[in-house]
Amino acid sequence: MTQVILRPHKEESLLRFHPWVFSGAIARIALDPDYPYDAPREGDLVQVRSSRGDILGVGHWQVGSIAVRILMFGVEALPADFWTATIAAAYRVRESLGLIRPDNDTYRLVHGEGDFLPGLIVDVYADTAVVQAHSVGMHYARHDVAQAIVSAVPAVRNVYYKSDDTLPFKAQLDGDRVGYLIHNQQSTIDNPQSDFWSTENGLQFRIDWLRGQKTGFFVDQRENRALVERYARGKDVLNMFCYTGGFSLYALRGGARTVDSVDVSQKAIDLVNVNVARNFPDDPRHHAYAADAFDFLNEKITNHKSEITNYDLIILDPPAFAKHRDAVRNALRGYQRINAKAIRQIRPGGILFTFSCSQAVDKEAFRLAVFSAAASVGRRVRILHQLHQPQDHPINIYHPEGEYLKGLVLYVE
Ligand code: SAH
Repeated sequence: MTQVILRPHKEESLLRFHPWVFSGAIARIALDPDYPYDAPREGDLVQVRSSRGDILGVGHWQVGSIAVRILMFGVEALPADFWTATIAAAYRVRESLGLIRPDNDTYRLVHGEGDFLPGLIVDVYADTAVVQAHSVGMHYARHDVAQAIVSAVPAVRNVYYKSDDTLPFKAQLDGDRVGYLIHNQQSTIDNPQSDFWSTENGLQFRIDWLRGQKTGFFVDQRENRALVERYARGKDVLNMFCYTGGFSLYALRGGARTVDSVDVSQKAIDLVNVNVARNFPDDPRHHAYAADAFDFLNEKITNHKSEITNYDLIILDPPAFAKHRDAVRNALRGYQRINAKAIRQIRPGGILFTFSCSQAVDKEAFRLAVFSAAASVGRRVRILHQLHQPQDHPINIYHPEGEYLKGLVLYVE
């Protein structure tokens, strides 16, 4: 196996279990005599050693500033049962946390570094697991991953691979970036005759992993949706950036007076309507609008897009405004603008649930953006809850970069 030898003292972060080796930490690379190329190929398994030659671990070689992502510390090679053992361990964690139940078969099985599998995401929807590779190494491991999932998770019969948006754009890869790795059952998304529903806390969702965003559903808001349910009774609710309507269904079940769901994507709105009809047939309380968030909040009073001009509870869950560090300033301005607009639309004594899923925007920066929004509107605002990603999106304590979702629940006087 190719050996990556670090410069003196550069092993320290690895000894503290941080799973990344930066290219600047590398002194030299020793290829096997029979290795057919003159440099490691992206996605290869490589051994990492300290400057003194001590073995540090095995990981995937990458092109870019992160050169290796460690899969296992302190070994010279991955054990034969590496994939089955690691994925079975991730499953046992979800099971022990009580996330896998007849009324909840929607959960994240593998959350990258948080489950010691850097570059791999797996979400489970009833009998189907959706796998996303964020590294070329995980792309080449995809068949092992798929086998490990079906052996670890009794309910899973299909594994769909969806890495068209997540693999390095320029990577030269063998094999498809999308498609079923294992397919035993025709589900709705492929076959309109069958009836596929995935259940989250007793609410049923149609999940379109073929055409939907990410793996098809935002699994990371389950706990925060449940909190919306607790506050929804009797309220006029606006679910802005609703995607497939997760927060809307919980608000309806919580006894909201009305729920308006808004998303710029018509496809998302079509799915919201399917999901509401499935769980709350013919419920007159719900309306869905395909509209831009800023337009909706600006024009709503004059345009009568909705009959309601103000809300008791607003949810703002926008897409990541900052995809990279250099976009943070603009992102903060975006968060400030959208939050100011929402705070303006909240009736006295109302509640705002506001989120950021930009990893590059930290908790404090986000809170400051919301603070500026509140100050610019000039209302008295109190923080009721500080929210984050749920337990099936764990953060490896040695890899704080895994924290990305944060939210505030505000009481607006
Ligand atoms: N809250 C959702 C997830 C939101 S993802 C859930 O619980 O499932 C972000 C959503 O914002 C996407 O569905 C995207 O289509 C939508 N979006 C992006 N830009 C928008 C805009 N300018 N106005 C309204 N919606 C937008």
